[in-house]
Amino acid sequence: MVIREYNNYSKYCKNIGKRIVVLTVMSVCFLFFSSFSYPITRDAQKQDGKENGQTEFSKDDWRLVLINKQNSIPDDYTFTLGTIQGNMKCDERVLDDLNGMIQAAGEDGVGLMICSPYRDMERQKMLFNRKIKRYMNTGMSYIEAYRVSSETVTVPGASEHQIGLALDIVCGEYTSLDAGFGETEAGKWLEEHSCEYGFILRYPLGKEYITGIEYEPWHFRYVGEEAATIIMEEEITLEEFWEEYVD
Ligand SMILES: [Zn+2]
Repeated sequence: MVIREYNNYSKYCKNIGKRIVVLTVMSVCFLFFSSFSYPITRDAQKQDGKENGQTEFSKDDWRLVLINKQNSIPDDYTFTLGTIQGNMKCDERVLDDLNGMIQAAGEDGVGLMICSPYRDMERQKMLFNRKIKRYMNTGMSYIEAYRVSSETVTVPGASEHQIGLALDIVCGEYTSLDAGFGETEAGKWLEEHSCEYGFILRYPLGKEYITGIEYEPWHFRYVGEEAATIIMEEEITLEEFWEEYVD
């Protein structure tokens, strides 16, 4: 009986020992392979970025506010208007960079001209309602007229011009707001240098399926130099930047 118990005990010890060996080997293998094959997730990349001291982008950064058909201007959004020239206004925090950009372009022989700066809610509503009325006069229902109008005039509350961070910029030689502006010297200068002053081409060609807006080589949006450099170098939109970089 005693011997049998002893045998059982030694068997038990051997089993435990085997288990410990197997578990140790498995752990070592796991650690070894995981150091090679651990999938690099976006979170891990973001973490790497933080550890390397790269810039973090916060969803609360006023420069990055995302306004589009799906994200209208928050009710509590506030800012202070500053004067660009005459009665043209924009968010006052943008003025220094904007003036710097206009000056730098001038030094390169490019005369930039702002044709549409900040627009208030009342003006946006007026433009929109006027369009609806015109369609309704042709016999459309209100709902129908609203739908058609929203394809050509930005729905009030969803225009970046209303928060003073967007500017339509052209030049003396080319003042029409069409795709041709992108081919002018001013259009090319802006595409190349605007990010140095914190601006991005907000509605690029080929990204209409993301922005929901057709190519607008004249519409520039302020996001700050760091974000603008990434967006323009990687040829992405503000929507894609939010997906990849904003926490
Ligand atoms: Zn615009």
